[in-house]
Amino acid sequence: ASVGVRYSPWPVQVDSPEVHYSDEYIFAKFHYEQVSTCEDRQNGRTLVRPERQQLEFRTDRCVPRLGLLQVGWGGNNGSTLTAAVVANRENICWESREGLCSPNYYGSVTQTASVHLGCDEQGADVFVPLHAIVPLVHPNDIILGGWDISSSNLADALDRAKVLDVDLRRQLRPFLERIKPWRAAFDKSFIAQNQQSRADNILSGSKQEQLDSLRDDIRRFKAEHKVEKVVVVWSANSERYAELTTEAACLPEKLLQAIRNNEAEISPSILYAVAAILEHCPYVNGSPQNTLLPSVVELARQQAVPVSGNDFKSGQTRLKSVFTDFLVGCGLKPRAIVTYNHLGNNDMYQLTDGTMWKPKSVSKSGVLEDIVSSNRALFAEGEEPDHVVVVKYVPFLGDSKRDISEYTSEAFMGGRYTNIIHNEALDSILCAPLILDTAILCELLTRVTFRRPGDETYRPLESVAVALSFFMKNPMTPYGLPPVNALWRQRLCLENMLRALVGLGPSHELWFLGASD
Ligand code: NAD
Repeated sequence: ASVGVRYSPWPVQVDSPEVHYSDEYIFAKFHYEQVSTCEDRQNGRTLVRPERQQLEFRTDRCVPRLGLLQVGWGGNNGSTLTAAVVANRENICWESREGLCSPNYYGSVTQTASVHLGCDEQGADVFVPLHAIVPLVHPNDIILGGWDISSSNLADALDRAKVLDVDLRRQLRPFLERIKPWRAAFDKSFIAQNQQSRADNILSGSKQEQLDSLRDDIRRFKAEHKVEKVVVVWSANSERYAELTTEAACLPEKLLQAIRNNEAEISPSILYAVAAILEHCPYVNGSPQNTLLPSVVELARQQAVPVSGNDFKSGQTRLKSVFTDFLVGCGLKPRAIVTYNHLGNNDMYQLTDGTMWKPKSVSKSGVLEDIVSSNRALFAEGEEPDHVVVVKYVPFLGDSKRDISEYTSEAFMGGRYTNIIHNEALDSILCAPLILDTAILCELLTRVTFRRPGDETYRPLESVAVALSFFMKNPMTPYGLPPVNALWRQRLCLENMLRALVGLGPSHELWFLGASD
């Protein structure tokens, strides 16, 4: 008889001579096994050399009181996330057409996804929640704050978004109507004309004065709420690209000088990112614009602060990065991938402006690259499927996004395999949990240091948080490393990072070998 599958909800404690739990830290020795390859063209073979590196991770076990500051707090994502945290914290249930509903964190990988750990004594597969591997902040304990160019309080913003049920909105009103976003850094040349009427809550003054004011907000928030750490997440509208001089785009000191000089191409998002980094706060770019320029990333390295971007991967692109991987992984050759999206929320309205659409369109189209170029048996060098993305604004639908995706692939012996997928979801319901996850995981990264044999001291991880690629349409990588878009490779990277922090090897899926004797 099958011994089955078991889910174990408790925190993980690894029992191994390589792992040591002190009151303060988890120390974990980790053997990083890589494979380096080179092509032996003369003899027509690939030479492979397994390599082993010894690393030691040190993870601070103390979970801090965390603040999450959202830029664009009064938007659909910002207000939905805030409402969800309050509803979960206060355990507010509500009536919907389907009956009584209770709050949850579905869609948050840290809260509601599980990881395969190993087998128990009976040989059953054991799964644990992702948040059980190392200590993570719980979303109910996060203190929320942020900025918006619109002065609406959070209760009005939630009504404006029309994402959550009316009965829940009504019950949340007393909690949210007292909350008003702080005045925002704003420059009308960076967002669409159709958003200008919303901008009644903005900072005045030069770029330097706006930056100083944002830094003051972060410091004041920390002091008022006794918050130990803060993560700043951009969830405001997509901006157009900033076109800075090469020097300001590459060198932190030139960037700071450009801000002092009130340089017109310093976008509001750059001001938020720089403010966060100078205040030692991780920064997440949830939109496609080029905020995280090399100079900003270098500034983050100098301050040992994680940064993550770009553009949350929550809906159609996420499905594409797993569906295309499925096709190519099965040896099928997708030739045409065509997706139509339509919705009617404020962000889509702003994307009707061609200049604002450009970064989004680039972000949506790059998602196939690594999947296609991983398979030369199907695709010749430079060959790609026809990839078309159409997006339309349909006001009546509000946040309810519909997308129709058609994949046409070449199959065995001239056959065709066509898949048509129709999705419908409220955009913010998919995206808000990602904001939580990236904030929670960025906070974790600030508690992790590592060293190699011979190193006396532990050093911080690389600032560009590659392990968070899973959440991004256009994942950033440091030093020109190739990005990975394939969703399950991204998910494994995240999972394996957490496992490494407690000295466990990567999940290898060698179950064909059976359980050990
Ligand atoms: P939204 O338009 O409802 O909210 C954006 C908010 O940002 C608005 O309240 C606006 O007033 C505010 N804002 C604009 N400029 C600002 C500034 N300079 N400072 C502070 N606030 C500012 O949009 P949304 O649906 O909440 O999406 C937010 C962002 O997330 C968008 O950029 C969108 O592209 C990105 N995103 C969303 C999804 C998704 O919802 N599924 C997926 C990927 C990326």
